[in-house]
Amino acid sequence: MSSYKAFDLDQISLEKRVVLRCPFKQCNARIIPLSKALVSSKISIDKAPEMVAVGQIPSVDEPRTESTSDFYKVDDVWDFDNIGVSRAVENLSSPIELASDPGEPVTLNIERLLICSECDKGPLGFAGISEKDAADVKNLKYFLSCNSVVYDV
Ligand SMILES: [Zn+2]
Repeated sequence: MSSYKAFDLDQISLEKRVVLRCPFKQCNARIIPLSKALVSSKISIDKAPEMVAVGQIPSVDEPRTESTSDFYKVDDVWDFDNIGVSRAVENLSSPIELASDPGEPVTLNIERLLICSECDKGPLGFAGISEKDAADVKNLKYFLSCNSVVYDV
C-alpha cells in the first residue's frame, strides 16, 4: 500500500493494475481501479470540503481531516467498486467552478459527501450538481480525493 504523495502516477503507464482502496486499516475495501482515464481526470479544486487525509502514512486508524485540492473527477457512480453517497446537505461548501470543454465554466453546487460503503467512514470525496441539472441525481459529478485513499500497487 502506498500513499498518494509516495505514489508516482506515471506508474500507470507501466500498465500495472493499481487499485485505490479505503484508507482505514480494518477495511481497505476497493474504491475504484486507477485507470488512465481516472489519472487524466485529475483536477485541482480550491475551497473543497475537508477530507480524510492519508499523508505519508499508508493506512489510517483515526479519521483526521484536512483541506485538500487534488481530486479525481468521476462522471458515473457505477465506475466505483464501493462508494457511499450521503444525502443532500445544504451549504456543505461554496459552489465550485469547473472548466467545460467547449463552453462556459459550469458551476456545481456541492451537496453530498462520499464515504466508503463498507465501513461508512470518510469523507473520501464529494459530489456536486449544476443548478440546471439538479432535478435528476443521475447528473451528479463525483470527486474522489487523491490523498484520501491508499494505492494498492
Ligand atoms: Zn472502508
